[in-house]
Amino acid sequence: MERTFIILKPDALESKNAGNILARIEAEGFRVLGLKLIQMSADDAGRFYAVHKERPFYGDLCKYMSSGPVIVAALEAAGAVQKWRDLIGATDPAQAAPNTIRKLYAKSKEANAVHGSDSVENAKIEIAFFFSERELV
Ligand code: ATP
Repeated sequence: MERTFIILKPDALESKNAGNILARIEAEGFRVLGLKLIQMSADDAGRFYAVHKERPFYGDLCKYMSSGPVIVAALEAAGAVQKWRDLIGATDPAQAAPNTIRKLYAKSKEANAVHGSDSVENAKIEIAFFFSERELV
């Protein structure tokens, strides 16, 4: 079964929407393989977002993602990568479709509630970045 990797970002926890988002994950039929609350260091965030190194928002993004606790999780479903991306909506909540997670809960382009892997290949890399095999059930 396909896997994806997700993050509930600092704004989602700050606004106390983590429970709502986790309820939606269950309601949409994802299986949770692994889940934990962590706070990334700026160095963790820098390595996780290394693909965005050349983008102008990279420094701010790393600072933001290490500014407070986040929940990281590995999910499984048929077509999990695209299924999650459809459910979260566009990067900018102003552009996100009605009832998507970002439309409902995101504050801005940066503080946009959630992350999702953009490919099956990257999902594998991102899951391995945060979870050992023992932590996946
Ligand atoms: P993610 O990879 O987090 O699922 P995405 O694929 O929708 O998001 P990317 O273009 O890969 O978006 O950007 C990664 C993250 O960087 C975004 O989720 C957002 O938090 C931040 N970001 C993207 N564009 C901007 C921007 N113009 N200004 C500030 N932050 C941005």
